[in-house]
Amino acid sequence: MSKQLLFIPGPVTVTEPVLAAMGKPMIDHRGPEFKVLLESIARKLKPVFGTSGDVVVLGSSGTGGLEAAMTNMFGPGEKVLCCPVGVFGDRFAEIARTWGVDVEVLPTAWGHGVDAQALKARLDADAKREIKGVILTHNETSTGVQNVMGPLADAIRAHGALVLVDSVSGLAASEFTMDAWGFDVVVAASQKALGVPPGLAMVAVSPRAWEKMERAGGPRYYFDLRKAREFAAIGQTPATPPVSQCFAMDVALDRYAASGPENVWARHQLYTNGIIAAAQTLGLELFAQPGVRSVTVTALDVPAGIDGDAIRKTMRVERGFVLGGGQGRLAGKIIRIGTMGDISQTDVLGMLGALEMELLGAGLKIHVGSGVQAALRVFLEASQINAA
Ligand code: PMP
Repeated sequence: MSKQLLFIPGPVTVTEPVLAAMGKPMIDHRGPEFKVLLESIARKLKPVFGTSGDVVVLGSSGTGGLEAAMTNMFGPGEKVLCCPVGVFGDRFAEIARTWGVDVEVLPTAWGHGVDAQALKARLDADAKREIKGVILTHNETSTGVQNVMGPLADAIRAHGALVLVDSVSGLAASEFTMDAWGFDVVVAASQKALGVPPGLAMVAVSPRAWEKMERAGGPRYYFDLRKAREFAAIGQTPATPPVSQCFAMDVALDRYAASGPENVWARHQLYTNGIIAAAQTLGLELFAQPGVRSVTVTALDVPAGIDGDAIRKTMRVERGFVLGGGQGRLAGKIIRIGTMGDISQTDVLGMLGALEMELLGAGLKIHVGSGVQAALRVFLEASQINAA
């Protein structure tokens, strides 16, 4: 099967207009056209983050954005409260430790979201305000958990700690209101819900965060956000940017606005609802708890006796659907299905049909077509087509 549809949680299947933008001739990254392009991207990203503050674009994957957020905000010996809910939350904490930042972890069982009350209790106990930052993951790609951010923002506000958020796999797939939530640095990446090839990290920064960066932070060079802001003011980046990705991002942001953000959010939710309905009908357990299930990635427990990696391999090689596997201690234990990128309802139905074929072939007792039918009903209902 030469054709492959990406149902992994990034990089995602990219639309043709966005791909075509990547093929534009190179321009001078210190010239007037690039200035217009960079300013356009930074401006169009603001409503996606829900901020009136600055959004800085970095030539980097998401991890570089996380490193930029951490190293610009905190230095050796400063204490942060990390609230990981999976592999990527652990990575954010690891970045902090690498730079000598003093990390305390608020533990959460995988599959769950951060408990707002536990977070508030820990911050209330910090009478001396030793905790300088709270580190959150909006959408944890490794477990399929999406934290409910409003209550977490409320739990932090009275304490006053700075809030860093990894929304690499969350931003643009559901409403995000950075300013209203009082978040200080929010990190996203191009290859996720905005549907651009990998290569750009987008970092939104609050006025309070800029102020802190002037006073403190750790050693930094390539990812110095102050320098990025200085250059952005003249329509440039400190080093050579991935110009093709910038062309693509600008087109993707236009398409996002033209689709209507609410419609984009509803699409991610609908595909997720379809996949969840199929999984539940097929008797597959969901790894993430109800109430914190991600709209960009659904994690399914692999049933006992079934080799999840073998299923993913046949899905990819013979059926043309690429699914994600488990990461870290979930390797081999879950299958992750992404819903971002240029996929249609019929792609989702096809993928679920192929998954049923593979599960049957692996010996799982299921009613053939029941998962697809459950998803189909979800889609028909959303289209107000009577499926009776
Ligand atoms: N955080 C989250 C939540 C992610 O999903 C990812 C990528 N899967 C990253 C961070 C790291 O991003 P990148 O691979 O682009 O460095």
